[in-house]
Amino acid sequence: MQKTLALLTLIIAFPYMLQAQNNHSGKAILVIHGGAGVIEKKYMTPEKERAYQQNLTQALLAGYKALQDGKTSVDAVQAAINVMEDSPLFNAGKGAVFTHTGKNQMDASMMNGANLKAGAVADVSTIKNPINAARAVMEKSPHVLLACQGAEEFARKEGCAMEPPAYFFTKERWEQLQRALKRDNGDTAAMNDYDPVRNIIYGAGPEDEKFGTVGCVALDDYGHLAAGTSTGGMTDKLYDRIGDSPIIGAGTYANDKTCAISCTGWGEFFMRTLAAKTVSDLMEYKNMSLKAAADTVIFHIIPELGGDGGMIALDRQGDFAFPFNTPGMFRGYIGKDGVPHVWMYKE
Ligand code: ASP
Repeated sequence: MQKTLALLTLIIAFPYMLQAQNNHSGKAILVIHGGAGVIEKKYMTPEKERAYQQNLTQALLAGYKALQDGKTSVDAVQAAINVMEDSPLFNAGKGAVFTHTGKNQMDASMMNGANLKAGAVADVSTIKNPINAARAVMEKSPHVLLACQGAEEFARKEGCAMEPPAYFFTKERWEQLQRALKRDNGDTAAMNDYDPVRNIIYGAGPEDEKFGTVGCVALDDYGHLAAGTSTGGMTDKLYDRIGDSPIIGAGTYANDKTCAISCTGWGEFFMRTLAAKTVSDLMEYKNMSLKAAADTVIFHIIPELGGDGGMIALDRQGDFAFPFNTPGMFRGYIGKDGVPHVWMYKE
């Protein structure tokens, strides 16, 4: 199985690897995540594993191609995230989870480490690629965070692709919501119900309902960092709940002086700890390395409050880390050699 996956990755990546050898200056690197959670081999089918592997590989290649073409880290982050948003496998864009009342309400944000500009959208239901709208807020509005219909109106005006709410319907996500609703109503048969699509075991409590968000951090050949995150939030979320993903400093942060970060996990904890900005602060004010700072947040600060999840972190030297305190995290990187590297489980 592993051999087949490696071969598959090589076949998809080969043309890009050739291009990488031709014109890459060696500095650019891109790291992605597709959410953290109960991702364990025993719960995966070979088909599902292959589908994730392929999609993560495509996202890495799309982002890396942007860097290869001399585009910026912001372009690369957008390109990689678009691939995952367009896939039903991830809880973002097409595969967004359902709220308690059966809607898809998505959040996304983007930050440019070169100038500390940032943009975000929250609770949007008709924007095909919410990360594109977040970028438009960053580059074409005087604001940082737009929400609901106002955000959609702005996105439409800026030419973002729009879709009717039906586009975001997927059977798997709908069934997840039905299971969550049953559990809410005390149906014990719905307890401890493993969901292989979302890799979540329902029933152990609300802490099991939060994963699948996508994110990307990139360093371009000009030495600039960028970060982006896109999500459907949490299944069964109530009252127009907004998570950490569109909150700059919580789910997303980028600063050329320190690092670029995108988080995934139980959003409330990442908001309460300003997780992404805390990594940057530990580096800037405590002189910590990127890895030490990211590990401090994921293995100490968040779990000590009772939260869980993971993050991807990248610094200006091209060093990166992807700590997570859950059983697994979809993650990968592509750098110098132009070869996409992808992991899912703890390994
Ligand atoms: N952090 C996201 C949220 O709380 C969920 C996730 O990472 O999957 O909305």
